[in-house]
Amino acid sequence: MATGTTQLQGRCVCNALRYSLHLSTSAPDSEELDARTTLCHCESCRRAFGSNYGLTTKVSVESFMYEPGSVQPKLYKQQDNGVTREFCEVCGAYICEYGEAAKERFRYVMWGTLDEPERVPPKGEFFCRDRPGWMPEIEGIFHKQEIKE
Ligand SMILES: [Zn+2]
Ligand SMILES: [Zn+2]
Repeated sequence: MATGTTQLQGRCVCNALRYSLHLSTSAPDSEELDARTTLCHCESCRRAFGSNYGLTTKVSVESFMYEPGSVQPKLYKQQDNGVTREFCEVCGAYICEYGEAAKERFRYVMWGTLDEPERVPPKGEFFCRDRPGWMPEIEGIFHKQEIKE
């Protein structure tokens, strides 16, 4: 199989906000897409996701686009860490996030908003120092005590 582009679709809960990812494979003959899914146990993710960790897929900003006909996202920038999150103003679902340093280059897409999230399984965990005691480590992926670059 030659290197091509794979399109993944995603949307918010109410379907007003729809997007697509245009990802290449990481190598010829590979099924692995050029995207990096990670868990993040930091407090910002915990509060934003309302769960014990955030789960996002890092893609290049060029590969992410809202679909024609989709409503425009609302933006909220968290003041203490500079993270901006884009969300649906109708249902409130978060679609993606990015810090100031990543803004021009990357989007961290909320994994659960993808139609086929299993296409991009997790590769690592960040802020493991903040992991709750009852949450096991995922085997076979990288683990960092802090940073989410
Ligand atoms: Zn919505
Ligand atoms: Zn985080």
